[in-house]
Amino acid sequence: MAEERRNARDERDTGEDSQDSRTARQQAAPDDVARAWDELVATARRTVADGLVVGTSGNVSVRVGDTVLVTPTGVPYDRLTPDDATGVDLTGRQVLGRLRPTSELPMHLAIHTTTDARAVVHTHAVHATAVSTLVRELPLIHYMSGALGGPVRVAPYATYGTPELAENMLRALTGRTACLLQNHGTITYGNTLSEAYDRTAQLEWMSRVWLTASSVPGLSPTLLTPDQVAEVGERLRGYGQPG
Ligand SMILES: [Zn+2]
Repeated sequence: MAEERRNARDERDTGEDSQDSRTARQQAAPDDVARAWDELVATARRTVADGLVVGTSGNVSVRVGDTVLVTPTGVPYDRLTPDDATGVDLTGRQVLGRLRPTSELPMHLAIHTTTDARAVVHTHAVHATAVSTLVRELPLIHYMSGALGGPVRVAPYATYGTPELAENMLRALTGRTACLLQNHGTITYGNTLSEAYDRTAQLEWMSRVWLTASSVPGLSPTLLTPDQVAEVGERLRGYGQPG
């Protein structure tokens, strides 16, 4: 897989325009791409406004047909315009825009190619990142873990942007729509950008609750059992709205 990704990047650098990339462009209607880009930029700005990200340290992607729109690397989100739309095909070859896609592209593509995700949100949210340095799994402090598929795992550390990190992340995401990345941050996915965003916000909130409850001297928080959380997962699938 690592080799494949390197090749994809090399070809992109030479500006080759293969049949594959033309096909990807055809599958994404310009209006859909423009709308999705606007939504992606709004979501990226929201991660900064809500304090989940400082500067340009997070990234967001959304899939339109076989094109994955992604935040470009190193450009503050408030400076992104409709003309900056940046997209790759499912192999990582750039098919849209001139700005360089996020360095975390391997994580985004790993999710888009192995799950039914339409949108991915990655942040360095403070409380979630703190939790990622303390445990291998977010303790079951709240039943909303059930909305993320169960106990949220921590993917073992690997350097950002590497295929190794993407592989560790995919393992941690098995049966889940969210995971923590050790000493790094959060990643979540969903059917829409707002669903992926909400999952990130829930994960950050639960991390904060656990840290808050755990820091009371002499007391330790009551935790739920995996069965209690699984029951909530079932309920949410059946009824749609959390109580
Ligand atoms: Zn990151």
